[in-house]
Amino acid sequence: MRPAPTILHLDMDAFYASAEQAAKPSLRGKAVVVGGLGPRGVVATASYEARILGVHSAMPTAQARRLAPNAAYLVPRFQLYRSVSEQVMELLGRLSPLVEPLSLDEAFVDLEAGGAADDSASARRTGERLRTAIRAVTGLSGSVGLAGSKMLAKIASEQAKPDGLVLIEPGTERELLAPMSVRTLPGVGPATGDHLRRAGMTTVHDLAEAGEDELVRLVGKAHGHGLYRMALGLDDRPVVAERDAKSVSVEDTFDVDLHDRVRVRAEVERLAVRCVERLRAAHRSGRTVVLKVRRYDFSTLTRSETLRGPTDDPTVVREAAARLLEAVDTTGGVRLLGVGVTGLADFTQEDLFAQAADARELAERAREPEPERQAPESGTEGTGPAEEEPESAEQLAARRWPAGHDVHHAAHGHGWVQGSGVGRVTVRFEEPGGPVGRVRTFRIDDPELTPADPLPLVRDPVDYSSWPASLPKSRSGPGSAAGEESRP
Ligand SMILES: [Mg+2]
Repeated sequence: MRPAPTILHLDMDAFYASAEQAAKPSLRGKAVVVGGLGPRGVVATASYEARILGVHSAMPTAQARRLAPNAAYLVPRFQLYRSVSEQVMELLGRLSPLVEPLSLDEAFVDLEAGGAADDSASARRTGERLRTAIRAVTGLSGSVGLAGSKMLAKIASEQAKPDGLVLIEPGTERELLAPMSVRTLPGVGPATGDHLRRAGMTTVHDLAEAGEDELVRLVGKAHGHGLYRMALGLDDRPVVAERDAKSVSVEDTFDVDLHDRVRVRAEVERLAVRCVERLRAAHRSGRTVVLKVRRYDFSTLTRSETLRGPTDDPTVVREAAARLLEAVDTTGGVRLLGVGVTGLADFTQEDLFAQAADARELAERAREPEPERQAPESGTEGTGPAEEEPESAEQLAARRWPAGHDVHHAAHGHGWVQGSGVGRVTVRFEEPGGPVGRVRTFRIDDPELTPADPLPLVRDPVDYSSWPASLPKSRSGPGSAAGEESRP
């Protein structure tokens, strides 16, 4: 815990959905759901308009459709999200050498290490400038949390959402945390939350009151000790730049323990793909693949396999993780899974074509995590085909023209797939920053219609190439932040 709130946590607001709304003028202010659209697909991100209707991430898409039948349901466009993410991370990198990305749209930044802030006033000013810069460069909003520790910076950015900034003054942490749900604390997922609730502890105050010994008794030594410290607002974890990290890993805690072995395997594969995505974002590779499994009784085990050489190949990591899982007994249920890669090396692949093919596969896997093929997207429910049946016309249309993806038409220009059905695809012709476009329907094999790359969200970006050095250093307060970056 440091004396000044110079740890910044940035979290883009409803990232995938906001990017889609920025790209598609007809979806501004509308409920938008981005995720897997197959029968077992889950929501990746819902726009705020969809959240009001009760839709949230990780919810089965089928359930979302019942809550928000009129929302736009779109297949993720990772190519776009990745390029926006790179713009955002690049801006963060100019504030400090210590930037720790947590996902495409979320990162910690150590402002003190970069000389970008040394007290509350300078931290707030830098946070507001960052938000202005992000909006100018990407067209999207991000929320900023500032505090003296990573845990509290993340809590602050959550409170700041959407499109805000919250600064937690060091010294006020304990008071602030006391009334909050135990689920606010990092590592307390639904399962641990239930476990604690059954012991009568629902707020952070309850945890602090219970004391360390009681928490260790309840959730085990390692977890209990950490939980107690967090309840007191104590968190000394440093911001670690990805390139200094010794490993890259991702993990998920599940709402209900997983018993189905097929589901466990699918989750491990999905985590492996996400892990490689992070590895590649950091331009790294690693030699040792690690699988972490926490079972129903909180016993946690890790298994690892060291490869012959460093890799950033999603197939290699996925297969290694699957092999490691084979040796783990999961019959009692699994509450947490993690996949990591350690033994990192800076690494450039020689074969650019192979890398591009892998990137495509990566996007493919992330888009459709389940082993099944994409389901029909006609909007009718309960028509999922048996797995072994040949592909239907609807499936073919949905696979060839995923909802939300970009297309180009020889006569009508750039558009996006609004839907597809038997032999037909409906396209809305509009572009980021333009007016709401018109809808036209084509045969799915129309020779004039071709898949296209996403267009940038900001067509005429302001030149931010020397940000933030170009900014006046005067301590004029946050009010002056808005226009100061625009340069002749
Ligand atoms: Mg976010």
